[in-house]
Amino acid sequence: MHQDIITLIRDIYKTEDFIPLHEPRFRGNEKKYINECIDSTFVSSVGKFVDQFEASVAKFTGAKYAVAMVNGTAALHIGLLLADVTSNDEVITQPLTFVATANAISYCSAHSVFVDVDRDTMGLSPEKLKYFLEKNTSIIDGKCINNSTKRIIKAVVPMHTFGLPTRIDAIVEICNKHHINVVEDAAESLGSYYKNKHTGTFGLVGTLSFNGNKTITTGGGGMIITDNKTLAEKAKYITTTAKVPHPWEYHHDVTAYNYRLPNLNAALGCAQMESLPSFLESKQKLSKTYSSYFKDNDAINFIEPISEGLSNFWLNAIELKGLEARNEFLKTTNEAGVMTRPIWKLMNSLPMYNSAQCGNLDNSEYLENRIVNLPSSVI
Ligand SMILES: *Cc1c(COP(=O)(O)O)cnc(C)c1O
Repeated sequence: MHQDIITLIRDIYKTEDFIPLHEPRFRGNEKKYINECIDSTFVSSVGKFVDQFEASVAKFTGAKYAVAMVNGTAALHIGLLLADVTSNDEVITQPLTFVATANAISYCSAHSVFVDVDRDTMGLSPEKLKYFLEKNTSIIDGKCINNSTKRIIKAVVPMHTFGLPTRIDAIVEICNKHHINVVEDAAESLGSYYKNKHTGTFGLVGTLSFNGNKTITTGGGGMIITDNKTLAEKAKYITTTAKVPHPWEYHHDVTAYNYRLPNLNAALGCAQMESLPSFLESKQKLSKTYSSYFKDNDAINFIEPISEGLSNFWLNAIELKGLEARNEFLKTTNEAGVMTRPIWKLMNSLPMYNSAQCGNLDNSEYLENRIVNLPSSVI
C-alpha cells in the first residue's frame, strides 16, 4: 500500500535516496557572508550581520522591532518574561505543539494549562479558549484569576501549527477582554499570514525559530518580533546579561541571560532571508502538487489553511482515517526511505505536564491519532 504516494514523492525530489522531512537549502550568499564574518573577527554576539538580520526580519514581517536570540525556545522564554510571566503564574497554551512551548513556560516557574485546538487550523481554538476562561476564571483587581488554583493567568501562547495560521485575531480579542497577554509562537510560520498580516505580529510579542529544520535556518537561532519599543529594548538588554552601558565597567543590574544570536549565525540568516521569497514560492508549488494528488483520495485528506489564512507550508500535513491507518502509513513510508512523521504527542501526556489543568481536548486527541507530515523541503 501507498506505493503510489512513495512514487509521487520520489518523482518530486527526483531521487532514489533517503528523503528527509525538511532539510535546509544553501544556494545564495551563505558562504560569502560567513567568510566575511570570519574575516571581520566579529563572530560572536556583536556585529553587523546581527543588526542586518534583525532589520530584514522586521521588514519582512512588518514588525517594528526584531531581536535575535540563540534559538526559538530562548525567544519564547524571553517573550513570556516580557509578558510579565513569573513564578507561580499560569500560561494557557495548546496541548498540540512542540515541547518547547510548554518547556519555556516552565523556565519561568509558571504552570501550563492546556486548551484545545480547532480541527481545521490545528492551532488554539478561540471558542474553546473563551469557554474555558468564562467557566474557570474571574477578573479580580484587573487580573485573570483561575478559580480552582487562585493563580493568575498571565499569558496565552497560541501556535501556528506547521505554518497554518490560527484564528489569531479572535484569540487576541478574547485575551484583551480577560486582561491576558498574548505571546504568539510563530516558530513554524515565517511567511504565513492571517488576513494579510504576518503571523507573530498580532500579540504583545511573537517568537520565531531558525532551527535547521525550519523554513529558513541560522543553524540555531530565534527571534522576538514586536511593535513595542520598550519591550524590544528590554529583550535585547536581558539577553545580553543586562550589562549597563559603560566604556569599561562591568555593571549588571538584574539576573539576566546570555541568549543573543552570534554574528556568525546571523550571517547565515542574512543569506537565508534573501532566499526566503524563492523558498516560499517553491513550498507553495509543492503544496499544490500534494493537494491535487490527494483531492480524489477518500482515505487521506490534505490539510489546507483556512480561507482567511495564507500558509508557508513549512510542513505539509495529511489526515488519515485513524490510528491504525496512521501507523500503517508511517511504517510503509519510513521503511521505503521516505521520511514521514506523526504530529506530536499531546503535551498533557508527557510526564512533566501530565498533572496540568486541561480543558476539553477532543480536537487535539482526534488530530493526535491522524495527522502525519510529508517531506516538505524546498525543491
Ligand atoms: C521549533 C519550535 C520551537 C523552538 O525552536 P528552537 O529554535 O528549536 O528552540 C518552539 N515552538 C515550536 C512550535 C517549534 O516548532
